[in-house]
Amino acid sequence: MMIRRNSRQRQLILDVMRGEGIHLNADQVYQKVKQADPSIGIATVYRNLNLLTEMGEIQKFQDRSTGFMYDGNPKKHHHFYCRYCKRYFDVSFSVEEQMIRQVEDQMGVSVEDLNISLEGCCNECKDKQEKEKERGKEQWN
Ligand SMILES: [Zn+2]
Ligand SMILES: [Zn+2]
Repeated sequence: MMIRRNSRQRQLILDVMRGEGIHLNADQVYQKVKQADPSIGIATVYRNLNLLTEMGEIQKFQDRSTGFMYDGNPKKHHHFYCRYCKRYFDVSFSVEEQMIRQVEDQMGVSVEDLNISLEGCCNECKDKQEKEKERGKEQWN
């Protein structure tokens, strides 16, 4: 009985994590899962998020400010971080092959892992900033 309930709650959590570009911290997952199952506790959410990470269904990474973020995309990928809305976007193509080859050639080492941190302004925030600029201009005219 316990097992069935556990796997149903795990499925709810997995459902929240599935989809395009889902990056949430445990509390955000908890808020979403609670809507489907008000009986779920934050400890259960944490436990299942870590279990799903171990199972390779999702992955987690260290966020710069809020601790761990859970990522619905289990494949290795880089992130683009928007400084303005604080969201993470998946970078779906490889940007590093040439860089790795260059480092290996010049230093003689073998590169086994690489972490690239890309950050800036996402499209939505760029639009917003453009509109604000426009509005600013209108006020002066
Ligand atoms: Zn943004
Ligand atoms: Zn991601």
